[in-house]
Amino acid sequence: MNILVINSGSSSLKYQLVDMSDESVISKGTCERIGFEDSFISYKTFKGIKKTIKISMENHIEAFKAVKDILLNRECGVISSVEDVTAIGHRVVLGGPKFNKSVLINEDVIKSIEEFIPLAPLHNTANIQGILACKDIFGKSKPQVAVFDTAFHSTMLPKAYIFPIPYEYYEKYNIRKYGFHGTSHRYVSSRCAELMNKDISKIKMITCHLGNGSSIAAIDGGKVIDTSMGLTPLDGLIMGTRSGSIDPSVVTFIMDKENLSPREMDKILNKKSGFLGVSKISSDDRDISNAAAHGNVQAMLAHDILRYQMTKLIGGYIAALNGCDSIVFTAGIGANEPSHRYKVCKSLSYLGLKIDEELNNQMIRGKEGKISTKDSKIDVFVIPTNEELLIARDTKNLIEQKKCSS
Ligand code: ADP
Repeated sequence: MNILVINSGSSSLKYQLVDMSDESVISKGTCERIGFEDSFISYKTFKGIKKTIKISMENHIEAFKAVKDILLNRECGVISSVEDVTAIGHRVVLGGPKFNKSVLINEDVIKSIEEFIPLAPLHNTANIQGILACKDIFGKSKPQVAVFDTAFHSTMLPKAYIFPIPYEYYEKYNIRKYGFHGTSHRYVSSRCAELMNKDISKIKMITCHLGNGSSIAAIDGGKVIDTSMGLTPLDGLIMGTRSGSIDPSVVTFIMDKENLSPREMDKILNKKSGFLGVSKISSDDRDISNAAAHGNVQAMLAHDILRYQMTKLIGGYIAALNGCDSIVFTAGIGANEPSHRYKVCKSLSYLGLKIDEELNNQMIRGKEGKISTKDSKIDVFVIPTNEELLIARDTKNLIEQKKCSS
């Protein structure tokens, strides 16, 4: 059984074709700059073929057509007919309060994802475009599944997800904390339980997804009790270009002083803040590390802010969990940058947390394992995330359940 995993952005489309017999990726790629003149597709197959080709893709339908052509291509293709794709699993960013797990897509599900467009305009619009384009290109009868970024966080209680503003805004507009990166937090938390050889229902865990976008989740017995992102992925930690949590008055103050519209202010908070805003150099952690190593004070400050915020968030979540058995680091920065892990864990040494420096330095570029010492009171792991695999597994499970019930 082959599952096609799709992550549609507003001008990009990432895909992976996963062979579920051994969960291997047989082809993957990205369509970029969809809707622009210079659109192109890059792809890789298990046969070792790796290419980037310029191809006109005016919209998502044309992008999916390009993906289908590559999957079926005589030279670089990996399947011989569309029938070899059993089902399609989509990453959907915001499921709102309605979806607490992955679902088979039907007209009602599409309507619900559309309903939440005002809360996630760019993401949910792109996700809908992806789902509709798949129908066109792979046929209406091809089962499609939605895997929501927010679903894993649906176990939070109102005390964690309600913002202390007039309650009517929650009632009118569904304004609340939803949390994001749920598929990643779910994947690494279940993998962490496997590595600990313990039942997840008995573990108190904190998972740190640190990439261009970053979020931390507090998970008690496999259920999220709190997470750092909020209504949108702008909340929480300092990120590549996103501010994370700031005093809300800063927003109104700057808008007033600089005469900015909500859209302009939104762009500043989402695209010009975070590492980029503070360092004035780059949004990329590696650039910041290089500059900091050469004594750049702004770069050092950006890193200090990240580590300090992480220490406070993890400390706060340990209090909320009333204990902690394990901490997991994942995503681009979490799984590749030992210095952040080391410094954050050092500042938690009062809890009896001890890091093995050698193991920590080894755990980079896709390696998975424990980085705490044997006598550490909290186990610390580096676990590269694999959201695509979880989307493929959910898709497979749902279509098998459907077969059983029909
Ligand atoms: P996204 O949130 O877009 O999925 P990633 O999880 O890929 O992003 O994370 C991107 C961040 O991870 C960048 O800041 C980058 O510098 C950092 N990163 C990626 N690979 C490495 C690496 N090998 N060493 C250090 N940092 C890395």
